[in-house]
Amino acid sequence: TQHRPSPVPAGDACPGAAPLLPLVGARTPVPLLDGTTRAYTNLDNAASTPALEAVAARVTEVLPHYASVHRGAGYLSQLSTALYEESRRTIAAFVGARPDDVAVITRNTTDSLNLLAGCVPAGGRVLVLDLEHHANLLTWISGDGTDGRPTGSVLPAEATVAETLVALRAELARTPYALLAVTGASNVTGESLPLPEVVRLAHAVGTRVVVDGAQLVPHRSVSLAETDVDWVVLSGHKMYAPFGAGAIVGRRDWLDAGRPYLAGGGAVRDVRTDGATWHPAPARHEAGSPNVLGAVALAQACTTLAGLPAGALHAHETALRDALVAGLEALDGVQVARLWPDAEDPVGVVTFTLPGHDPGLVAAYLSAEHGIGLRDGRFCAHPLLARLGASGGALRASVGVGSSLADVEHLLAGLRTFLAVGA
Ligand code: PLP
Repeated sequence: TQHRPSPVPAGDACPGAAPLLPLVGARTPVPLLDGTTRAYTNLDNAASTPALEAVAARVTEVLPHYASVHRGAGYLSQLSTALYEESRRTIAAFVGARPDDVAVITRNTTDSLNLLAGCVPAGGRVLVLDLEHHANLLTWISGDGTDGRPTGSVLPAEATVAETLVALRAELARTPYALLAVTGASNVTGESLPLPEVVRLAHAVGTRVVVDGAQLVPHRSVSLAETDVDWVVLSGHKMYAPFGAGAIVGRRDWLDAGRPYLAGGGAVRDVRTDGATWHPAPARHEAGSPNVLGAVALAQACTTLAGLPAGALHAHETALRDALVAGLEALDGVQVARLWPDAEDPVGVVTFTLPGHDPGLVAAYLSAEHGIGLRDGRFCAHPLLARLGASGGALRASVGVGSSLADVEHLLAGLRTFLAVGA
């Protein structure tokens, strides 16, 4: 059985008023500097999310019953194999996979992108924008085409979405690229390019598209079939499952033919002392005993998120993002970072600075005095932070299904106090 989501709380009649789904330990009491404790205010969902209660329940249910996968004849081995393969199908369906697509279970987004890098056909070049998370930047630009990694080029984003699309079209026409690797939503600003348009531009010149879905998949419904995106990669720990399981879902041909990601048992059909015959994907890239519980947890998160009423997640997070941005912009002494004025429908990830104040100190104050968790630094996106004029770092608040308007208000109140005292 798979756990269905708990009913959407009544507060959802007013989006953002209450958490959309229950999470495990989300309100853990945390120590404050004055010796008291306070329920944790988690505004760091873009880094990692707490687990859904439904995920915890599912893991608890499966935990006593697992055994080796794909190899054992025993009943529990058969059960584990069925659970693992069912999880793969659930994850693929969650991102709207086409019938011929394949889903490889990985550790996370970084793992998935590195796996794909080994599958780019020989000599194929890869294009990325300069706004990417390091996982979707270094994977492509740290090779030279001779070390099993493709050669990558970085295109600077322009000042608007429209101009960036024009630059992208020109660069794709100028140089033949095998692959365009693009974020589904920035982990710094929450902004994105329109994926259908990006895919049209790329496919028009025979370039495939991989979407870094780490920040997109937890917040928006994604369909490979509808958008014609070739691959999407994702991390379970950013979508309410625990660490350790992620996926790449998409076209089978490159993954069937590419270099096996790991060498070892399970990935091979036949081994000789002078070589081996490798399985096609997904087994080709899943050598070693697989992370059954991780896959089950990730699949449960997919099922629960997919079970939300249509539009509820979007309405919830948009209400929170709007309140956050409006509240931050109303504060004298706070600047919200934006990449593109014409970006549509950003996800609930908001980066801001308090000019004249060290972001690390502000984050430490918010934690120690108010029990607020957010992120400071350069968010594994150094080139983008430089573009935004924030090479010295910034603060990032990010919301999710466990967030509510009270969390946003609490952050704004904390910043108000800081600015009053610290200014
Ligand atoms: N891509 C984006 C947009 C991210 O936000 C992150 C994590 O912050 C990653 C990739 C890397 O994810 P992971 O650390 O799960 O591999």
